[in-house]
Amino acid sequence: MKKIVLWLLTTALLLCCAGCTSGSVDPSEPENADGRLIAQQISEGAVPARELAQTVLTEYLKEREAYSPLGNAGELDGRIVIFTVFASGTDYSWDFSKQEDADQKKKCLKDLSEAAAYLTGQAAKYGRDVEFLYDWEEDPGLAAEYSAGHPMASAASTREIAYELASARQLKETYGAGQVIYLFIVNSGPDNTKHSHANSYDPQKTGENASFMDLIEYAKINLHSDYEGERWDAQSSTYAHEILHLFGVPDLYKAGPLITQEYADHMDAVMSTAYYPDIMYGGVPGWSAWDHVFSDVDAYYAGLTDTCEDVEAYGLGKSQHIADQ
Ligand SMILES: [Zn+2]
Repeated sequence: MKKIVLWLLTTALLLCCAGCTSGSVDPSEPENADGRLIAQQISEGAVPARELAQTVLTEYLKEREAYSPLGNAGELDGRIVIFTVFASGTDYSWDFSKQEDADQKKKCLKDLSEAAAYLTGQAAKYGRDVEFLYDWEEDPGLAAEYSAGHPMASAASTREIAYELASARQLKETYGAGQVIYLFIVNSGPDNTKHSHANSYDPQKTGENASFMDLIEYAKINLHSDYEGERWDAQSSTYAHEILHLFGVPDLYKAGPLITQEYADHMDAVMSTAYYPDIMYGGVPGWSAWDHVFSDVDAYYAGLTDTCEDVEAYGLGKSQHIADQ
């Protein structure tokens, strides 16, 4: 759960996110949602959509077996495609003929650019040479507009759009990249109560039991949201935080599969007196990604280092980047 804390007289807003945890379930989603969506499309006469869905699912299953034990965003290393989806639904939408939306799109690129530079810089400290391809002004093929017949606040909209996207394997081939991230950007209004979140690949969800959405990794950035009565606007630290989730880094402000409650409490204590927040702990409105600490814990879970004092001292979970013995 998010919360607001006082931070050196500045309101600090913890970034995210009910949906951050790998494998989390959106309670608004029915079980077997893939099947329901396909059934709905059939009932609407959209049989080609069903065929498309099956084709794409087959494509992703092939990719998982062939390339990506950690999903489409595996290693924070080398060339990484960020394919941006300007996503419109029945609640929030984009209209780039409007100056306001065109300006917002430019701000998205600025924030994403800052986040990419921040992550590249952090990885370089650990000897990794990361190159993010994301600039849709340089290469229009790196972004596209998509519309869904569902509210963008629901995961059903993401699923509906995802079926239409080029697969990670196709994008890797096109750009000579080793990793792919899908970034959904939602032009949400300040009344939106959903937070930005990330859908990380869960290695437990594999084989025939995997749904299409289990097999792709994406971050969904909600540009504006109401956070317990306070307005929160996505900023570069939001992008960096969500992208790190896709490479396996957990939230550090709450207990989860990798983080103990003791460590979350420890982080609360440390962060209450720290000037700069950890990128996976929280954010301060208006602060750049560069104003956030990238700790050894973050590096450990991102696969940049195999050892980490805090992980050992607090008995934290093992990084997905370290193979089972
Ligand atoms: Zn998070």
